[in-house]
Amino acid sequence: MRIETERKLDFDDVLIRPKRSGLKSRAQVDVKRTFKLPHAGVEISGVPIIAANMDTVGTLRMAAALAEFDIFTALHKHYPLDELQKANMSGAFSFVSFGIEDMKKVNSVMSALQSNSINKICLDVANGYTEAFVEFIRDVRKHHPGKIIMAGNVATPDMTEALILAGADIVKVGIGPGSACMTRAMTGIGYPQLSAIIECADAAHGLSGLICADGGCRMPGDVAKAFAAGADFVMLGGMFAGHSECMNEEQLKVLSKNGGGLVEYYGMSSKVAMDRYAGGVAPHRASEGRVVQVEYKGDVKGTIQDILGGLRSACTYVGASKLKEFSKRATFVIKNAA
Ligand code: 5GP
Repeated sequence: MRIETERKLDFDDVLIRPKRSGLKSRAQVDVKRTFKLPHAGVEISGVPIIAANMDTVGTLRMAAALAEFDIFTALHKHYPLDELQKANMSGAFSFVSFGIEDMKKVNSVMSALQSNSINKICLDVANGYTEAFVEFIRDVRKHHPGKIIMAGNVATPDMTEALILAGADIVKVGIGPGSACMTRAMTGIGYPQLSAIIECADAAHGLSGLICADGGCRMPGDVAKAFAAGADFVMLGGMFAGHSECMNEEQLKVLSKNGGGLVEYYGMSSKVAMDRYAGGVAPHRASEGRVVQVEYKGDVKGTIQDILGGLRSACTYVGASKLKEFSKRATFVIKNAA
């Protein structure tokens, strides 16, 4: 056993220090970015925020709404293929998600979606530290050399490098910070998210790879802190939950009849999700997700305006006219440092 004594940080432990700035208005701030992907060799452009691949968030309706703002969605993996094929979705802003699957399934889904111009794959497992996952990324890369692959989750630089070397363009970073996550409580495993972002971004950028900070953002200021820490993309679950785009017609009817109400947001490893998609919690497992009741928030448009307004304002406070410059100009101060 070993103890690391260096202090590690979460979003709540820091603030971003304001700096003198020549910017006159937050309207001048450009929050879009274009990245070149190291393996796929193509570019990806847009506002680098991604709706999480959870069935209460990464919906086709959410993808349609977010694409209007050039924001990305990782579609949840439980859609039947024909529903994905029929959907009028934007290939530019949608990722198709898989766990560790049979390669044949990945190949057939990606080839069926070729006419929808989908070139983005999200490979998502709770624990990205296994050899089997690294092998799987290698295999997907071999079969799909020109596709954009985002893979995770991990929370340390060594494994960020391993996933990039195996073929991931973007590594999803976050073990345990999610608002519907119980991993830390159930297993004791985790890593403070702000430090994970700082350390993994440094490792990824050294290999020309990218990271997506995944989990733990509860308000626009947290999104700003994630970008300031070096995240190239930020994935949001809870902040996008509870909107009309998360729901089906039936749920919307009930909410509009009642003039609002509470809606369920649950982890993909929660008992609710396992009952729905895996026929219950297997005897060797425990649920590592919780069910959270969130207030119905209406259309996602208002939340996007809050997030992007907060982000533009944060950039203005440090004099960054582009999101690209934000992290270089940002200095964190530790709150109430001992
Ligand atoms: P949030 O934005 O709500 O804080 O975090 C969203 C992220 O939580 C997701 O993108 C995913 O990485 C993670 N997550 C989703 N469901 C579960 C779960 O059941 N257990 C755990 N440990 N993490 C989850």
